[in-house]
Amino acid sequence: MDKSKPTNFIAQIISKDLQDKLTEKVVTRFPPEPNGYLHIGHAKSICLNFGLAREFDGICNLRFDDTNPEKESEEFVEAIIEDVRWLGFEWHGDVRYASDYFGQLYGWAVGLIEAGKAYVCELSAEQTREFRGTLTEPGRDSPYRDRPVTESLTLLEQMRAGEVAEGSMVLRAKIDMAAPNMNMRDPVLYRIKHVSHHRTGDNWNIYPSYDFAHGQEDAIEGVTHSICTLEFADHRPLYEWFIENLPVPSKPRQYEFGRLNLNYTVTSKRKLKQLVDQGYVDGWDDPRMPTLSGLRRRGVPSTAVLAFCDSLAVAKTDGIVDMAQLDHFIRQDLNEHTTRAMCVLKPLKVTLSNWPDAEEVLLATPNHPNRTDLGERELPFGQVLYIDCADFSEDTGLSRKKFKRLVLGEYVRLRGAYVIKADAAIHNESGEVTEILASIVPNTIGETPPEGIKPRGVIHWVAAHNCIPCDVNIYDRLFNKAAPGKGDSKLADDINPDSLTVVNGCKAEASLAAAKPGITYQFEREGYFCLDTRNGDAGHPVFNRTIALRDNWSAN
Ligand code: ATP
Ligand code: MG
Repeated sequence: MDKSKPTNFIAQIISKDLQDKLTEKVVTRFPPEPNGYLHIGHAKSICLNFGLAREFDGICNLRFDDTNPEKESEEFVEAIIEDVRWLGFEWHGDVRYASDYFGQLYGWAVGLIEAGKAYVCELSAEQTREFRGTLTEPGRDSPYRDRPVTESLTLLEQMRAGEVAEGSMVLRAKIDMAAPNMNMRDPVLYRIKHVSHHRTGDNWNIYPSYDFAHGQEDAIEGVTHSICTLEFADHRPLYEWFIENLPVPSKPRQYEFGRLNLNYTVTSKRKLKQLVDQGYVDGWDDPRMPTLSGLRRRGVPSTAVLAFCDSLAVAKTDGIVDMAQLDHFIRQDLNEHTTRAMCVLKPLKVTLSNWPDAEEVLLATPNHPNRTDLGERELPFGQVLYIDCADFSEDTGLSRKKFKRLVLGEYVRLRGAYVIKADAAIHNESGEVTEILASIVPNTIGETPPEGIKPRGVIHWVAAHNCIPCDVNIYDRLFNKAAPGKGDSKLADDINPDSLTVVNGCKAEASLAAAKPGITYQFEREGYFCLDTRNGDAGHPVFNRTIALRDNWSAN
């Protein structure tokens, strides 16, 4: 990337502001509301805000927009902090909270009343709607609009003290009930909520609206470029009105960009909360969720999320990005960085008749096909092995080209080990194969077999005497519709019934006893997997499939 060239349209604006000396030092902020866990859409905003600060040697704050106590909690605050850290960003100074500014905001509201620019309104919700007008018709002034300043001041104080019933009064700015932009028709600054706040407790009985809080918080923090998503474009005149009409310490400006929407999932905390609350998923960090904690638990590296966000256009329109694009970055990252290991999902016993009973050899095996820096491990090999049921067939009519695995009387190579031949199959009473009797072809480790012996392919395996029993969660897309919950369907109707398949009784190679959550492996021929954070019993790990080796959805 050409470093001297701004990376997107906001970077261009900043670059020019710096050149024109309108800005001395760039200050951005990431302002989540702690009413849910962060999702992949938030990652785009995080990368943009922290990325711009980094690009221009500025600073980025982490500020919780905690103005809606009913829906917010400390759990969400902590989860969000963990997610931002996971992405590798460090904010400037302490974590900030809108609630730290409640006193200042209140003071400014009082100032607006005193200046004749705000009033306490007692219209009911329904009347307020009626008075507001429509997109084509102007609104009408509230009968409370011109009440004496002292009356509004007294009422606001009573609202604050908890002496007024919820819903019976609000504080409104006095702007213009005929403004073509509905946001300018005397917007609400404060509502009454007799609700405790997770940080301020019962100190307040009124809480500021987003519009009254956001720009002022930016101004207090000296934010220079306040970046938000497109739905706030219509709020910008109001953002500017407050900045103009209040004695704020700085004059931030708001810029909007298109939010990230991903197909086959939802990027709305409200909808994700529904899935959690209604039990469709195992919490906010369910590996099928598009939350950052879900992606992490699934084994997606943060570097893949960063590379994906980097690939996204920062545009002035909303768009829908194909899930395959995210998957591409996940696979690319994992293919390059993960250690290879072997795990047999559906074990079938193989006994080697020409191998001495108790003899074990350790086979040095590279951890990555082309990265020697990832080292090697010693794979134990012995008389009894497991291969996957799907890698053996009794159908002798199968062509070599189609079935590159084991059939009776023929050869296959065990990955990193010998070429073996299947000599006989043992069946149970229902006719299922329970064991294969096989023989090794000597001297074939890393060597081509003698003339006439043609292995059909390479399969994975583990040694029976020291493999680890484990279970595997095979995750797939949570939804089987590109636009879940669209049209007549409910979100729940579009859940992919095969989004989770639990496979019990798998056998993993001994080295996987050292697996830790957050470290993803490639299980040869099966996909990428990592240890689940809610791992069951010691000695019986549960692995989550991060992603399949190939995209099985692109044909859909
Ligand atoms: P949601 O609809 O999921 O609740 P939100 O906008 O209400 O999202 P906030 O916590 O207010 O969530 O978001 C914090 C920041 O992240 C805001 O600046 C918001 O614009 C941005 N953001 C939220 N969703 C997306 C998205 N899908 N793409 C890009 N930025 C987003
Ligand atoms: Mg929001």
